[in-house]
Amino acid sequence: MSGPKIEKPRLGEPYLLTPGPLTTSYAVKEAMLRDWGSWDGDFRAMTAELRARLVGLLGDGNEGFTCVPMQGSGSFSVEAMLGSFIPKDGKALVLANGAYGLRAAQSLDYIGRPCRLLDKGDYLPPRGSEVAAILAEDPAITHVVAIHCETSSGILNPIAEISEATYAAGRKLLIDSMSAFGAIPVPPAEVRFEALVSSANKCIEGVPGFGFVLARTDVLEAAKGNAHSLALDLHAQWAAMEKTGQWRYTPPTHAVAAFLEALRAHEAEGGVVARGARYRENRDVLVAGMRGLGLETLLDDRWLSPIIVTFFCPADPAFRFPEFYDRMKAKGFILYPGKLTVVESFRVGCIGQMDADVMREVVSAVAETLREMGVTSAAPPAEALVERQKLAEAAA
Ligand SMILES: *Cc1c(COP(=O)(O)O)cnc(C)c1O
Repeated sequence: MSGPKIEKPRLGEPYLLTPGPLTTSYAVKEAMLRDWGSWDGDFRAMTAELRARLVGLLGDGNEGFTCVPMQGSGSFSVEAMLGSFIPKDGKALVLANGAYGLRAAQSLDYIGRPCRLLDKGDYLPPRGSEVAAILAEDPAITHVVAIHCETSSGILNPIAEISEATYAAGRKLLIDSMSAFGAIPVPPAEVRFEALVSSANKCIEGVPGFGFVLARTDVLEAAKGNAHSLALDLHAQWAAMEKTGQWRYTPPTHAVAAFLEALRAHEAEGGVVARGARYRENRDVLVAGMRGLGLETLLDDRWLSPIIVTFFCPADPAFRFPEFYDRMKAKGFILYPGKLTVVESFRVGCIGQMDADVMREVVSAVAETLREMGVTSAAPPAEALVERQKLAEAAA
């Protein structure tokens, strides 16, 4: 693959096989070594460049979109999007199949927006036909909220069919594309939506500190006065930025500088397509290697995202996740515990400054760790396979 070479973490820190914060390049870290005045023209130019580049990454049909960065972790931007675009007399349908969908519903609860929840459990995908049925039956719903890649299982939700069902019923779509944007294209020319949200420390490979909402300018204009919160008012943030070039309140200057460096590297690598291709290769090498060791994925190939993969823990009594985690960390890899409620699992992220060679090292480290622990079979318990059967039926 072309693009700049991926180098090992220079300070010898472990790879973060976690979907953000993730392993960043040295150049991204180095960009944080100087201080910036938030009011100064140099920083205002950085903000302008960041906003323009992000609109560019949307791809086909991005005319009419604008970018509003927002301080805080990704959830702050999700809450800003929900509170600013769903009016106080609106109602949301939240499509949940994991922690982030449930969190969006919880945000709506907090901010007092009526919300209907379609909860599909740990990972089953919400389908367009289900969305159509609920919208037909509940005319009060104004907005549908969907998670693009549900990072808690790694499933890539069928966003295009959800969008079609939403607009066929005359409603509006808001997308949490936090862990997908920058690697999985959602060109507005192909997938219709009002706004999507992502953050600095996911597929663009920046450091944590802010999120951003990409929204239709007319939708933002109409959002004046909707917000439940002063600090999370996207319209006000946008209006101030348009007028002064500045963030309304103290910006995360170092995180912005790092992010611009990350955006330039993203472009040099070949943009969304190349970034997605590297992650997909990471996933393919990882999944093939782990399956070769007898481990099994929660999802079958059709639903596997190139972002993060859930593996069932081996049923072998010699396997205990905390020990597995510590031994993997000692070998230079930080794993991510699983979030399934029915069977034990763990997750491995495919995003960040890592390539196929690193993923091969991950697989070797897993093999060695299982050996050290005396795990003779990596096969999951029987209940795991029952779970997988449910998915096959839902997808039929
Ligand atoms: C990371 C992520 C978020 C935001 O999480 P924060 O911890 O607030 O940054 C929201 N939705 C999805 C799908 C995510 O992956």
